[in-house]
This record gives sequence, C-alpha cells and structure tokens, in this order.
Amino acid sequence: VSRFEGVTMAPPDPILGVSEAFKADNDEKKLNLGVGAYRTEELQPYVLNVVKKAENLMVERGENKEYLPIEGLAAFNKVTAELLFGASNPVIKEQRVATVQGLSGTGSLRLAAALIERYFPGAKVLISSPTWGNHKNIFNDARVPWSEYRYYDPKTVGLDFDGMIADIKAAPEGSFVLLHGCAHNPTGIDPTPEQWEKIADVIQEKNHIPFFDVAYQGFASGSLDADAGSVRLFAARGMELLVAQSYSKNLGLYAERIGAINVVCTSADATARVKSQLKRLARPMYSNPPIHGAKIVANVVGDPTLFNEWKAEMEMMAGRIKNVRQKLYDSLTAKDKSGKDWSFILKQIGMFSFTGLNKAQSDNMTNKWHVYMTKDGRISLAGLSLAKCEYLADAIIDSFH
Ligand code: PLP
Repeated sequence: VSRFEGVTMAPPDPILGVSEAFKADNDEKKLNLGVGAYRTEELQPYVLNVVKKAENLMVERGENKEYLPIEGLAAFNKVTAELLFGASNPVIKEQRVATVQGLSGTGSLRLAAALIERYFPGAKVLISSPTWGNHKNIFNDARVPWSEYRYYDPKTVGLDFDGMIADIKAAPEGSFVLLHGCAHNPTGIDPTPEQWEKIADVIQEKNHIPFFDVAYQGFASGSLDADAGSVRLFAARGMELLVAQSYSKNLGLYAERIGAINVVCTSADATARVKSQLKRLARPMYSNPPIHGAKIVANVVGDPTLFNEWKAEMEMMAGRIKNVRQKLYDSLTAKDKSGKDWSFILKQIGMFSFTGLNKAQSDNMTNKWHVYMTKDGRISLAGLSLAKCEYLADAIIDSFH
C-alpha cells in the first residue's frame, strides 16, 4: 500500500486543463480559445522576429550560463522598470523602485504575496470579481487573506464602477488592492483615465496600497506607454505601490518565465531594505531566476533598433486581434436574429472577450461545437482566426438560445 494513500486527486486547472482537453479532441473543427496565447492567422504559435534576433546576438557573443544574482540580471531589472514607469520618471531617478526579476508574472505575484505575508500580517488583498483564476491560488498558498470587490456588471456587460469604489472604501484601512494595469482578465473591461483617478483617490483616502498586475503592457492599446498609464498615474501621486510584470504575452516569452516585481517606496532607503527582503524570500524558494529570457528582454528593450521593431510587431499582433474582434462582432450581428446587442464585444480590449455565456452554455460550446474555453464564458481572441469567426458565431448563438 502506498504511503501516499492519503493524497487525493487534484482537480484539473481551470485554464491549463482546457488545453489538455483540447489536445484529446480529434474533431477537425476544434478551436482552442482557452489559454491566452497569441496565434497566427493559421493558428500556429508565434516567435517574434526580435526575439530570434536577440537570441542570435546571444549566440554570436558566446554568452555563458553562469548563475544570475538572486535579484536577477541587472540589465533586465533596469530596462523593465524603465519600460513600466518611463525612463525619466522621478521614481527611477530617485532610486525608489525595488525591482527583482521574477518567474514571469505568476512568480512575481507570488514573491510579492510572500512579502505581504511576512511584513503585513493579517492585511487583506482585495481582488476584482471576477479575476484571473490563479490570483486566488497565489494568495491562498501564500496564506494571505483576500476578499473580492465588485468589478463586472452582467447587466451592462461593463464595469460596475460604483460597486468597485464602494467595496474599496468599505475594506479595512491599509489593505492591498490588486488592480489589472490594463486589459483586465477575464473581462477585457478597463476603467477610463477619469475612473482611474477616482480609484486612486479612494485608495489614498483609505491608506490602501495599490498592487498592479501588468501582464499585457502593449497588448491593450498596442502602445506600451498608454498601457502603463494607470501605473504611472498612481506613481505620479507619490504613492507607494507594487507592480508585477510579465513578458509572456507582449514578447511571446511564455515558457521562458520572465517578469519582475517592482515595489515603489517613498524613500531610497526603504527601497533598498525592501529589495534586500525580496531577495531573502527568493533565495530559499528558487535561489535565482533563469537567464535566457532576461537577456532577451534586456537586448530588445535596451537596443533602440530592436525596441522599435518590437513595437511594430506588437502592433501587428494587437491589430490581428482587433480584426478578429471586429469580424466576430460582424458575424454575430449578421447571423443572430434575436436582436441581441453584441456591441460589448467591441468595447472590450486585449486578448480576451467575456461573452456572458454561463457554465452550461460554455459546456455546450465545447461538447457540441468543439470550442474549448474557460467555464466563466471567456474566450481568447488571440487563438481565433478570421476564417473561424463565422463558425464561432454559429456556436455562440446556438449556445445562447
Ligand atoms: N496576470 C494575469 C492577469 C494574467 O492573465 C496572466 C497570464 O495569463 C498572468 C498574470 C501571468 O502569466 P505568466 O506567469 O505567464 O507571466
């Protein structure tokens, strides 16, 4: 008898489990709209040209595979903070950002959660309802209590701004407020700049600490600067804040696990101390981060020519998703005779569309139509082609009615 008899079977992951089910389906009409990974119009994975160029440079230079320091590659940490805040931002000039390379967005969030657990015992993290499925797991495993604030309004398929503000106001002083910097996952609904100002007002009033998750910089609008607008607006108020960054989507470095945690403090002194503690937390967890993705980002973001090429490629990717979004809307509007208003699809931004399909309807999408998606009704438009829009529209209309 196994000593592991008491270990029960874990449920499949609600997002990554979708890809496993997709692989097992042999129907040729099948579509994987589960995971948020960019595909070409031929629905193939895409490696950015700038990434290939950066990798070639690494080979030409004969770069080694020695350990990185605990905090990661210095050249990466420098450019990643500059990309986020803008190189001339006072927080950078005044050395008020503690930047530590993390294992992509997830690992960076997890490191920040460990910091909260150690230095803010009992403090709660407020997360949006709904949010990316892994947020709750991350804070649960770090033993950080969390609760939800209202975000999505099913009636308008838009932002429940009043509910959001009321819930942030009602939370205990000094809570952490997790915010999606841009391209909210799963809803694709972001606050307007005016709404961001009001959110910042309430957070300041209540002495909360904003904690941004920026997994889609450049993917919401196509512009890296515009997509960092929310974070910069808070930083410009002199607030202390946390920002987790990921290069999975915008540089297509999903499997390289490259990202960072940035903690903005009010003094350079506090910043240095926070950084030292982030390193102390990282050391027993994974010792030091991987070098390959860090070098790619440092080469691309740190080189003006490659940086411009990256921006062009990102615009191309964001543009393809916008085209697919438009075609899906057009197909739904043309085919659906019920008079339903589908314009919410065009208002959403980023990789995803939140369709409003419930669990049973999402099951119909998969079981009858071989369209794989998460059960919250989210579809990844990054995994859709123009050629499949009509088929998808048929599936959605059938599942709704
Ligand atoms: N945060 C959000 C909101 C995401 O959507 C994702 C990826 O889907 C991540 C973080 C982290 O992804 P990764 O760990 O690949 O950087």
